Amino acid sequence: ATPTALLAGTGRGAQLGIVIRGPHALEQARAIDTVVVDKTGTLTKGEMAVQDIFAGSGHDREEVLALAAGLESGSEHPIAQAIVAAAQAHAASSPQHIEDFTILPGLGVQARVEGLQAFAGNARLMADQGLGIPLQLRESADQASTEGASVVFVAHRAAVIGLVTVNDELSENSANAVRLFGRLGLRTVMLTGDNERAAHHMASRVGIDEVHAHVLPDQKMAVITELQKNGRRVAMVGDGVNDAAALAQSNLGIAMGSGTDAAIAASDLTLMRHDLMLAVDAIRLSRATLRTIN
Ligand code: ADP
Ligand code: MG
Repeated sequence: ATPTALLAGTGRGAQLGIVIRGPHALEQARAIDTVVVDKTGTLTKGEMAVQDIFAGSGHDREEVLALAAGLESGSEHPIAQAIVAAAQAHAASSPQHIEDFTILPGLGVQARVEGLQAFAGNARLMADQGLGIPLQLRESADQASTEGASVVFVAHRAAVIGLVTVNDELSENSANAVRLFGRLGLRTVMLTGDNERAAHHMASRVGIDEVHAHVLPDQKMAVITELQKNGRRVAMVGDGVNDAAALAQSNLGIAMGSGTDAAIAASDLTLMRHDLMLAVDAIRLSRATLRTIN
């Protein structure tokens, strides 16, 4: 590859809205055979909103939302922001006394509320804490996640008292981009910390080939390494702090420009619009650039 052609390719990338970190990035992009895509904030808009609230027997929905929001107020996770916003909109009063707040990455949050342990997070967190989920709540959770929602269970005083369902819309171009990746001969893989049902729902709506759900933040990189051990050359598209190590490990890291600084710093390419189609353009551009010079 001549420096001139690569420079021209880089300039063309900038016009399209793709910031290319260096000439090597275009060369990497050509050899890619697999595209790994993060779900939340990459395939989806990352604008989460509370959809529904369910209370277990002996509790009410306002109490569930208030406790969830009290717990989540210390987290910047998009799920947490959605819950806090919903509580503000409903003017739900927050619990008085919150201490020892801790973030549990890929699981949820924990604190002591009025002196007793409380949790907001996914089914795995409840299982880790030995908290049984009442059958009625489990059914509501299964129903919501089958429809693609993320489920946040809320527990206090050693019992699950309810749950909040949060959903996020697919970005407009996700399905088109995934289809075009396929046309370019690339295998598509979804990588997410979210639950299996929600992940499969979204994957089938956009036509993703392979799904890895329930992946803890520190395991995302291991999934990339595993694909590479199997001979795949991997591009990864992500936006979160959670995605940074996986983006760095990928043969080609692609950050959503709307994403976190950590994701952008770990990547070879940055997409200036929240549009997965730009990742398709990047692969096409690299193939075209290298074709003209080889
Ligand atoms: P993703 O891979 O979708 O970006 P994360 O690794 O950030 O997701 O989170 C994975 C899962 O962990 C979420 O789907 C959610 O179930 C749970 N989770 C993470 N943070 C929180 C939080 N603050 N409150 C509730 N649940 C959370
Ligand atoms: Mg994300």
